[in-house]
Amino acid sequence: MLMSATDQDSARKPVDSLREFRLIEQLFARRAKRRDDVLLGIGDDAAVTRLLANASGAVDDDLVTTTDILLEGTHFLPDAIPRSVGHRSLAVNLSDVAAMGATPLWASMALSLPAVDGLWLDEFAAGFFALADTHNVELIGGDTVRGPLSVSVTVQGRVPRGQAIKRSGATTGDLLYVTGEPGAAAAGRLLLSDDSCSESPPERVTRLQTKFLYPEPRLQVGRELRSFASAMIDVSDGLHADLEHLLAASAKGAVLDVDELRLSGIVDAGVERLFTRAQAIELSLCGGEDYELLFTVPPQHVARVHELAEGWPCRLACIGVVTETGGAQWRQDGEPYAVPVSGYRHFDE
Ligand code: ADP
Ligand code: MG
Repeated sequence: MLMSATDQDSARKPVDSLREFRLIEQLFARRAKRRDDVLLGIGDDAAVTRLLANASGAVDDDLVTTTDILLEGTHFLPDAIPRSVGHRSLAVNLSDVAAMGATPLWASMALSLPAVDGLWLDEFAAGFFALADTHNVELIGGDTVRGPLSVSVTVQGRVPRGQAIKRSGATTGDLLYVTGEPGAAAAGRLLLSDDSCSESPPERVTRLQTKFLYPEPRLQVGRELRSFASAMIDVSDGLHADLEHLLAASAKGAVLDVDELRLSGIVDAGVERLFTRAQAIELSLCGGEDYELLFTVPPQHVARVHELAEGWPCRLACIGVVTETGGAQWRQDGEPYAVPVSGYRHFDE
């Protein structure tokens, strides 16, 4: 392929930078957890993996593959905490794996760095590998180039044959559920960029900021829902937008109640309010980056799902019911509630 002059310049990496990139591979290879199903990890021309028998002895599981890019300036700010960037670069992919009801196995990473900054990389790796180890995921390879800061991670996982939970399976009469506190991450992001919250109770501020900086992908929830959820999606764009994705894929509508949203963590009950209830509703519906799971359950499985939820590390809210048509219709106190088009941004100034 023909290259422009600038391409040629950046392709001719100085020896120094090649050596630096080797160090990155070594840093990652040293930290990567070892799994039995990885025959060859970081260090060769390609990784070699093998699907071993699952808990019930089957080797014919389906493979699930997902990729996400985090680009500096678009997905995180130039001064973002590197540990958080490392955590999030994997968390966004694990959340997609969770939303399929799958178990993650292997990750690979394409990294573009403007310069090799050892401290930044150490922190980035600490965030990435802490989450990888929690979920027994091995980093098996990747590529590193010099360029604008971006991290692209691909994760592969497994799910028993034919059991991946799609967006398209919702049926009229199914109940709609969401885990955790949608909106908390967006609230945390606003608090990170806002000094005026210094008056607010610090533990409440930190809790919300942590929701944004270190989202916990709901892998256990996704797996346990395999036999019970008819459709599922993870909430990355915002509850309302992702709900519309699920409904469009299922060719259904829904009636939902904003009063069922879990907002107490966002709306401070104390004297110094962090957010008003109206703002919390907007954050919950439009904020995004929650990495919670939104799913539908046929009525006959509802009791079982409530039982399972007692063992989950997050709350569960039943927010509505699937209808034949009509899009996503939100209600508040029985009246129609119009989802703001501008979302949370109009008070982000
Ligand atoms: P090649 O030129 O054959 O692509 P590289 O020098 O790019 O080899 O990479 C050497 C080894 O380091 C490979 O095993 C590759 O998967 C791994 N590697 C490179 N960059 C990364 C990264 N950012 N994360 C994980 N592994 C990486
Ligand atoms: Mg390479």
